[in-house]
Amino acid sequence: MTSEAAQREAICRAARSFFERGLTAGASGNISLRLEDGGLLVTPTGSSFRDLDPARLSRLDADGRLLTGDKPTKEMALHSAFYATRGARSGAVVHLHSTHSVALSLLPETDPDDALPPLTAYSVMRLGKVRLLPYFRPGDPAMGEAVRALEGRRSAVLLANHGPVVAGADLSAAVYAIEELEETARLALLLRGCDPRLLTPEQVADVVETFEVEWG
Ligand code: ZN
Repeated sequence: MTSEAAQREAICRAARSFFERGLTAGASGNISLRLEDGGLLVTPTGSSFRDLDPARLSRLDADGRLLTGDKPTKEMALHSAFYATRGARSGAVVHLHSTHSVALSLLPETDPDDALPPLTAYSVMRLGKVRLLPYFRPGDPAMGEAVRALEGRRSAVLLANHGPVVAGADLSAAVYAIEELEETARLALLLRGCDPRLLTPEQVADVVETFEVEWG
């Protein structure tokens, strides 16, 4: 098992990488990771991914009480909802305000039940179907309720006018998946109005079956 110190470093490294690539700006975005004792490490409210301090990450116990560090993100309800509904499939949750994903959430043609068009096999593999959720005011507990209402069937959601939230079995899986979501949203915008050749339903079904993708 990776030590807590190494996991703190991993969160800060991932956050800085997101920030440096322009995938979330200012003090936006948050990351959480479940520890062996059922508690969480969470990025603090108001902190910037540019320069997180591993020692100041919020350390919560298994009941969500703050043990050490700064106060956790005000989007905690989102994170808790994924842990509560997806069990061991949620070892980490990442949320960004990444530009192309936000843009895709605003377009009239975006299907709320399947927000990403089937452009590449990798987005199908890593994300399954991405649900577009409505707009919520930042910090509104209804965001968490909307994720809970999915009953663990989705690992990735897109909050309208806000950004993506992705759960993974561990931090790397969540990072790779949210990167895939942002890249696919970027492709969708590049191809907007171009009538691209999408993967066929048969090709999507083949990927889903071969790689045992959750397709709820
Ligand atoms: Zn946010």
